[in-house]
Amino acid sequence: MSDYAAPLADMRFVLTHLAGLHEVEQLPGCEEVSPDLVDAIIEEAGKFAGGVLSPLNAVGDREGARFAGGTVTTAPGWREAYRHFVEGGWAGLSGEPEYGGQGLPALLSAAVNEMWKAANMAFSLCPMLTAGAIEAILARGDAALRDAYLPRMMSGEWTGTMNLTEPQAGSDLSAVRTRAEPADDGSYRITGQKIFITYGEHDLTDNIVHLVLARLPDAPEGVKGISLFVVPKFLISPDGALGARNDVRCVSIEHKLGIHASPTCVMAFGDAGGAVGYLVGEPHRGLEIMFIMMNAARFAVGLEGVAIAERAYQQAVAYARERVQGVDGATRSGARVPIIRHPDVRRMLLLMRSQTEAMRALAYVVAGQVDVAARHADAQVRTRTQAFVDLMIPVIKGWCTETGIEIASLGVQVHGGVGYVEETGAAQHLRDARITTIYEGTTGIQANDFIGRKVARDNGAAITALIGDMRTVAGTCEASSDGDIQHIGTLLAFGADALQAAVEHLLSIYTQDMHAALGAATPMLMLAGVVSGGWQMARAALAAHAALQSGQGDAAFMRAKIATAHFYADHVMSRADGLAHAAIHAGGMMRLDETAF
Ligand SMILES: Cc1cc2nc3c(=O)[nH]c(=O)nc-3n(C[C@H](O)[C@H](O)[C@H](O)COP(=O)(O)OP(=O)(O)OC[C@H]3O[C@@H](n4cnc5c(N)ncnc54)[C@H](O)[C@@H]3O)c2cc1C
Repeated sequence: MSDYAAPLADMRFVLTHLAGLHEVEQLPGCEEVSPDLVDAIIEEAGKFAGGVLSPLNAVGDREGARFAGGTVTTAPGWREAYRHFVEGGWAGLSGEPEYGGQGLPALLSAAVNEMWKAANMAFSLCPMLTAGAIEAILARGDAALRDAYLPRMMSGEWTGTMNLTEPQAGSDLSAVRTRAEPADDGSYRITGQKIFITYGEHDLTDNIVHLVLARLPDAPEGVKGISLFVVPKFLISPDGALGARNDVRCVSIEHKLGIHASPTCVMAFGDAGGAVGYLVGEPHRGLEIMFIMMNAARFAVGLEGVAIAERAYQQAVAYARERVQGVDGATRSGARVPIIRHPDVRRMLLLMRSQTEAMRALAYVVAGQVDVAARHADAQVRTRTQAFVDLMIPVIKGWCTETGIEIASLGVQVHGGVGYVEETGAAQHLRDARITTIYEGTTGIQANDFIGRKVARDNGAAITALIGDMRTVAGTCEASSDGDIQHIGTLLAFGADALQAAVEHLLSIYTQDMHAALGAATPMLMLAGVVSGGWQMARAALAAHAALQSGQGDAAFMRAKIATAHFYADHVMSRADGLAHAAIHAGGMMRLDETAF
């Protein structure tokens, strides 16, 4: 069982050289953010992640959350860890200062959140869902709702949930049936059942604030008839004290493949007549509010892919150094060697490492641009940057989670047989990772969003600008005097060609042949991820090369970065052609008759 050590060196490199920490520090509202502060925060977060959360990861997997008599007991150690989390001030890191948050940039939050997720994904889901609920109330809640709930959620005193899913309404939320009836006092009475609600019930805090999608009696059918409500577990008295228990309860929790310590709850609303709920925003506009929050939530789940990949990689490297098996493949003689000496094991470790670094770089770059889009003084810059962020969100969610699973699976492979049995913990990472491509919109849903709302809707404008940026980096690499950097640039240029060809094809068929377009969606999404990751690895190689030439930074780290980028170019970027081919030739997707399956 390996421990988790936050990869602070790579995080610092990405923050400063790739994600524009310096630019973010200059933004309005970020005046107090300095390199020293960032350093201190990530250092402390690393200690908390490694020292408190990581040791609970295996315990949580083994013991899980328990359900009895309507209550959920979290895994051993969870309550203490949560208390330390709140006391350490981690709950409101990037929250609005007006409600007690610390207002730190999304970029810094990304690094810190990666650590929570890598150390203990099941634990990290509770603050993640709370952040989503906070954002919904902030976005559209009235002053009374904000004042009543936000300070105590921001501090971590209460947690939040997102109650969207029902048995017949998963990817398609237009099928939501939960009802909301207006009451005489201006509130609503909610009745219905929600399933799969993460931390819908637990013993970490004395109140839980549920954000619930439901239909008003006069609601039109479909997506335009869904409203959003705050439904607290305990009602709040006028003086702010906890009042009566609301008519909402957890009926059961799921037994599932991974994240055992994260309770996944079936929630019953209104069994005793109706749970008291308060409307957030305007009637019938609940899904719009969800869409406002979706970027943050999808980004957060994408980051889970990065995090679990890092965790799996660290464990695989530790095992590969200690496991002795076979002799050196070139000399075929001598002492038996640790498996890290075998080229095929190196291949697996480098696939894990290079893709993890590429994903981290891309995710942090997007996080930095989230700050620019939200805070930059120039409206044109904000608009342009937001288009880039919107384009990349489904890529971060879809590509990073699919790749996270691939990497966790490679982690099992590096371990051989002991990876498949539970003792080492390698299997837990794979089981935990498996949910990430499903919740918060499956990969198929991300892919549809990517090709439709993000690529076709603006007729390819945002992605064409992105491909232009990639070509600029490829050109800079190709002009380098260093052969490795040139090679990385050449492969990036191939990748950009493949992406451009697929985009042009998509635009040419979109609306005329929607089956072919939708069939191309997931290969397109993965193609965009692979090439964007390569774009960041090329930028990383350029930065590392410049640092080596000027004698700045840790030379061994910089040389490793170039080697990793080189590997990515040959072994990952080279997949771009195949993905582009699949995207361009997706027309046959419906050829096999349904009855033939
Ligand atoms: C552990 C766990 C935690 C969860 N936490 C929460 C939570 O806190 N709150 C909450 O509200 N929900 C939560 N969910 C629910 C989760 O968001 C849904 O499971 C998810 O959105 C998928 O919905 P579904 O399961 O109904 O699958 P379906 O929508 O039935 O999808 C099944 C398959 O069909 C594909 N598909 C469906 N529609 C399309 C389409 N239009 N185009 C292409 N492919 C399509 C999907 O990609 C998928 O492969 C959680 C689920 C789990 C398992």
